[in-house]
Amino acid sequence: MTCQLTHRYNPDFSSLPDDQSKFNGRHKCAGCAYDEGRRLGSEKSPMLSLDYSQLPDSQAGTVRHKSVQAAFAKGYYDGVLTSY
Ligand SMILES: [Zn+2]
Repeated sequence: MTCQLTHRYNPDFSSLPDDQSKFNGRHKCAGCAYDEGRRLGSEKSPMLSLDYSQLPDSQAGTVRHKSVQAAFAKGYYDGVLTSY
């Protein structure tokens, strides 16, 4: 599965750290990781988990080779902020 969403080209993701590790979600879509984190954050979910293996792949745009962990954490933070 390959991500086709426009968040692949969101310039906000260009500030995420690069991560080329094949064991840490490399080639997974950081935009989808961000969206999932944001969803959990807006719910102030007490349980955080993200199965990186379930994320769509992405080789495109600004999310290419970006850290899905950092994207998920930023999404969670932004989601929590929107709840106040
Ligand atoms: Zn995506």
